[in-house]
Amino acid sequence: MTNPTDRRPSADEIRNRLTPLQYHVTQEAGTERAFTGEYWDTKDAGIYRCVVCDTELFDSDAKFDSGTGWPSFDREITDGRVTCIEDRSHGMVCTEARCAACDAHLGHVFPDGPTATGERYCMNSASLCLDRPES
Ligand SMILES: [Zn+2]
Repeated sequence: MTNPTDRRPSADEIRNRLTPLQYHVTQEAGTERAFTGEYWDTKDAGIYRCVVCDTELFDSDAKFDSGTGWPSFDREITDGRVTCIEDRSHGMVCTEARCAACDAHLGHVFPDGPTATGERYCMNSASLCLDRPES
C-alpha cells in the first residue's frame, strides 16, 4: 500500500509551478466556474493527467458531454487512480474525487452517469493536463 502523498511535489514546487486557479482547485478544493475551463468542451484524443503529479487519470475515450460545463468522464483510466471521499461540506452528501497519487482535489463523482458505468466524474479542467498523442 503506497502512501497517497508519495508522488506529491513539495509545497514550494506546487506553488511555483501551478497557476493561481490550478493551485486553488487542487490544493484548496476549489471549483472553477462552469464553461470557463480549458477542457470542458474538448473532444481531442489523449490522456488526461493530474496537473500536480502527472499521473494518468482519464482517457479521452471516457469523456462525454455532460452539459455541465466541466470535463466529465464515465470512468477512471485504471481503477484506483482516483480516490473518492465522502464530502458533507456543501450541506449535502456528495463524493469528492482526489488524485490517489498526490491527493490533489479533482472534482466530484455523481451516480447519475448516462453510460454503462452509471458514474459521472465531474472534474475541473484546472486539475487536469491533456496529453495529446503526437501526430
Ligand atoms: Zn496527482
